[in-house]
Amino acid sequence: MAGTLYVVATPIGNLEDLTFRALRTLREVDLVAAEDTRRTSKLLAHYDVRKPLVSLHEHNENRESAHLIEKLQSGLAVALVSDAGTPTIADPGYHLVAAARAARITVVPIPGASAVAAAVSVSGQPADQFAFLGFPPSGGAARERWFDRLANEPITSVFYESPHRIARTLAEASEYVGKRQIIVARELTKLNETLVVWQINDPIREQGEFVVVVAAGGQVELAEPDASSVTYFIGQITELIGLEEDAAVKLAAAHFEIQGAKVRKLLKKGRILVKRSSDNHEE
Ligand code: SAM
Repeated sequence: MAGTLYVVATPIGNLEDLTFRALRTLREVDLVAAEDTRRTSKLLAHYDVRKPLVSLHEHNENRESAHLIEKLQSGLAVALVSDAGTPTIADPGYHLVAAARAARITVVPIPGASAVAAAVSVSGQPADQFAFLGFPPSGGAARERWFDRLANEPITSVFYESPHRIARTLAEASEYVGKRQIIVARELTKLNETLVVWQINDPIREQGEFVVVVAAGGQVELAEPDASSVTYFIGQITELIGLEEDAAVKLAAAHFEIQGAKVRKLLKKGRILVKRSSDNHEE
């Protein structure tokens, strides 16, 4: 019978954040596939777990996944772990999981820590929906497109950044998102954990690990038209194009992005204003 692939979340800093189930799974599997075997060895040693480790990182994932699938097909139970947090979230593992699913091997999540969820949960921003934008591309058109997306995101956005780019990225992000709040979560669950609302020109210590949460972008509010612009618009299209008033109202509603009833109300008001003004001229 084929084995099982367990996708095991590990702590993002504080070793107490390993779940009981994750620990039991690591104790029970035959093999652990780890992004960095040295780092995972330390975690396993802390919990007194001894297991064979296989290295699975972004540069060997395709090749190594094939070997691991063979092992899984031979009936072994394998735990996939990354350096920290949940594997496959901005981390290697996706190819192995996809290959296992394609080979009809059971894939079981062992959920736990993830920096994105930890940061959003303490950001004070609505998280009924949020966009996770991964790491910003380092440069070129891809970086510009990424910032455009951030600028136009109507819901809370979250991204990861490395310490050597954080200052540049925050400065650039603030140009794109204007007055929207930027919350910087640094070293979550660790000794020097900080959570600050970042303002332009605030210094930032380029050390540690960072998650950035950006408040939702407001929808662009269209200014409501006034009575005279609606009346002028309707006057023009009824006179110049010869449209009936009902059709002109429909067209105005679509043009100003307001309800037909609102157009009629503004038109009535506009006509009263026009009449008053012509009465005044006659006096
Ligand atoms: N798979 C991981 C997860 O579930 O959170 C993320 C892996 S990604 C390669 C690593 C990035 O996550 C870091 O560069 C940082 O942006 C963020 N990160 C990880 N641990 C963190 C922590 N303790 N505090 C803040 N950010 C963290």
